[in-house]
Amino acid sequence: MLKLILLIVIVLAVLWLARAGRRRVNPPAARPGPGAPSAREAMVSCAQCGLHLPSGEALPGRGGVFCSEGHRAAYEKEHAPK
Ligand SMILES: [Zn+2]
Repeated sequence: MLKLILLIVIVLAVLWLARAGRRRVNPPAARPGPGAPSAREAMVSCAQCGLHLPSGEALPGRGGVFCSEGHRAAYEKEHAPK
């Protein structure tokens, strides 16, 4: 009977260690590097505020590309032909 309890304790200890070891290994591997997915995409800067953003997210407009519709509208209003 004592051997059975000892066996259960050993099995539980091995399982616990395996889980703890896996948990220690996983987070750094699963964490994506900062800016990694968009690193390959060309970066452009907003003509209104200079914010850098991937070209796929930029809004093309008259006079350059913009980070948002609001900045495109503001830039076009400022640079509107008189
Ligand atoms: Zn902007």
